[in-house]
Amino acid sequence: MKWEENVRRVVPYVAGEQPNRPGMIKLNTNECPYPPAPGVARLAAGLDCDALRLYPDSSAAPLVEALAAYYHVKPEQVFVGVGSDDVLSMAFLTFFNSGKPILFPDVTYSFYDVWADLYRIPYRVCALDENWHIRPEDYRQPNGGVIFPNPNAPTGVLEGLETVEEIIRQNRDVVVIVDEAYVDFGGESALKLLEKYDNLLVVQTFSKSRAMAGLRIGFCIGNEKLIKYLSDVKFSFNSYTMNLPAQRLGVEAVRDDGYFKATTAKIIATRERVKEEMRKLGFSFPDSKANFLFVTHASIPAGEIFQALRQADIYVRYWDRPRISNSLRITVGTDGEMDALLAFLRDYVDKF
Ligand SMILES: *Cc1c(COP(=O)(O)O)cnc(C)c1O
Repeated sequence: MKWEENVRRVVPYVAGEQPNRPGMIKLNTNECPYPPAPGVARLAAGLDCDALRLYPDSSAAPLVEALAAYYHVKPEQVFVGVGSDDVLSMAFLTFFNSGKPILFPDVTYSFYDVWADLYRIPYRVCALDENWHIRPEDYRQPNGGVIFPNPNAPTGVLEGLETVEEIIRQNRDVVVIVDEAYVDFGGESALKLLEKYDNLLVVQTFSKSRAMAGLRIGFCIGNEKLIKYLSDVKFSFNSYTMNLPAQRLGVEAVRDDGYFKATTAKIIATRERVKEEMRKLGFSFPDSKANFLFVTHASIPAGEIFQALRQADIYVRYWDRPRISNSLRITVGTDGEMDALLAFLRDYVDKF
């Protein structure tokens, strides 16, 4: 068809499957295994439906203010979106317009190249070293911007703040985005560097550490000017991105810091225990500081383990892609879920 010549063609990002089977163990999309803060449930139960007649606050001011207070920044430095995927997508559109290639690691979050292609932003990938670490010297080449997750996905590897700062320092003429989707599980946030660098944008999400993937809340913090440019683009795209319940429930989640800290501490403790057990079973992995492990077995191919787990209704993530096709990404669930996974693997590995 003639009209097809003018279609914006994209190869979409493929998210992890969302099976819903009774008794399944879902460890494939890095969700939190615990419920959101109790105040969130209370507020959700009493939601005033009459308020839904009206458009929500287009700047999500109450949530922006709650986040600003929590992170000790000005409200003008905070931008919220429908999940951090929305925030990241807007940031690509706003900041990566030089025509020069943007840089990000290979291996990394597989949405970056999708947005780059969607917005026709050229990009170049920089290979991780043999221990899955970013090589900061790779980010010295001319570029139109830099983005990387810290900890990285799907490896879980955390870079120290010195490495993050080295990359920012080398790239003062472009925007550097640090995607901190997993930073609450033991990482050190680049928020500390905001006072020194006006070209830094730190992106975080409520989907993992705050147990609210279903509500879709993400945010970023940066220099006021950066946030203003981002808002201008968002308001040119869709004024009312974040719905009213999400705004209100998000504020409630931020308020309960005790619950947040206790939940992330529990996940970290489970992660460290599972690391030991996985080692005993013949798995190796980089030292994850996220809510997942990226494991490879000494003798059994990852694809086979993936299929066997799936048949047992245990879902993990597997990519048949260069460099990572012999690894599985396993989300840290509850202790009970991880015990069931370990019991299955003990039995399975024994048969080989
Ligand atoms: C999960 C994830 C996101 C996006 O999560 P949202 O649910 O859209 O907030 C962004 N970056 C990385 C690296 C992730 O793993």
